[in-house]
Amino acid sequence: MARTSEPVKQRINLMDKNLHFNTLAIHARQHPESTSGAVMPPIFQTSTYAQESPGVHKGHEYARVTNPTRTALENLLAGLEDATDCAAYASGLAAMDALLKMLRPGDEVISTHDLYGGSYRLFTQVFEPYGIRFHFIDLTDIALLKETINAKTRMIWIETPTNPLLSIIDIAGVTDITRRHGILSVVDNTFASPYLQQPLKLGADAVIHSTTKYLGGHSDVIGGAICTSHKEIIANMRFQTKASGAVPGPMDSYLTLRGIKTLAVRMQRSCDNAHKIAAYLVNHKDVGHVYYPGLSTHPGHRIAKNQMRDFGGMLSFTLKDDRVEKALNFMSQTEIFTLAESLGGVESLISHPVSMTHGSIPVEVRRKSGLSDSLIRLSVGIEDADDLIEDIGQALEKC
Ligand SMILES: *Cc1c(COP(=O)(O)O)cnc(C)c1O
Repeated sequence: MARTSEPVKQRINLMDKNLHFNTLAIHARQHPESTSGAVMPPIFQTSTYAQESPGVHKGHEYARVTNPTRTALENLLAGLEDATDCAAYASGLAAMDALLKMLRPGDEVISTHDLYGGSYRLFTQVFEPYGIRFHFIDLTDIALLKETINAKTRMIWIETPTNPLLSIIDIAGVTDITRRHGILSVVDNTFASPYLQQPLKLGADAVIHSTTKYLGGHSDVIGGAICTSHKEIIANMRFQTKASGAVPGPMDSYLTLRGIKTLAVRMQRSCDNAHKIAAYLVNHKDVGHVYYPGLSTHPGHRIAKNQMRDFGGMLSFTLKDDRVEKALNFMSQTEIFTLAESLGGVESLISHPVSMTHGSIPVEVRRKSGLSDSLIRLSVGIEDADDLIEDIGQALEKC
């Protein structure tokens, strides 16, 4: 048996080739671990690294700053978002928190009005008291965006598709304006994942992820990331990682990395299932409105078709009888769909945004942005579509 004490040779740089997404999800900027040849990076459970003499080391000093398991995850994510750099965080909100810390008192941010509830809370309850101002507008309205921009506007925060109304914001349309004004553009790409949409290619300066969702994909780990090629943002995120340290542990980094390898196949199945469910709901007598960008009647359908590979695994709908009690009753009847917050896992989940994820948005603000009382959100998993449709059907009958 041939043995060698030499480090395992690196294969050709895969990024030099024009590879497609399914291949990249597994191989982008990945290589066997150099001492053992392990195909998956080990879980480097260490807090610090030996130095030969002060400052002379193998690239790692202290695990708040870098950890090889985390680095492998960051490299893969950067590859998938077509970014030069990525920093992983302990949660999606921790990633956002790190990014927003590049703002200074007096700066203003424009964001979408049907924003993820946790993002709204972070903006208004954590950052606003430090003198940063947030505007929440309908970002599908480019004219309104132009009107809202002023000399203090420093950042535009895009979420598309939006949560939970699945509105589609034209990323290239917005970044075209921000670029001309020297304003930073950030896209929360959690709902789409890089499989469906790559915002940096559409002109965005940074992408934010809650890797807890589609990237991790198995509802077993919390994490977040910033992906960017923008020098100022890179410097800020590296500094925030070191200075405030909301980093994921090596085990969580490993789980997320493992999940991402199957992102493409999971995401495609979720999309296929969501299409079928949307078609079923549209024709159901007890269903009010169906929000799914894959429907040709959806106002953002054309833009979604341009900027996304498919239309995603998220959909929302209202009941004809638009009452909170009715929605809660429906949700208590599903057997496969599990009532839970979160999304993007292999299992289908159901939630009632008004009483769950969007509970922290004041009633007036909520109704104004179209979040009606019976609105139900589905995160469509990778089960058989027929079983999911049957489950929805029997629950609608009983409620
Ligand atoms: C879940 C989520 C977040 C927050 O991520 P955590 O990992 O839960 O902190 C941010 N944005 C969107 C769109 C989300 O769905």
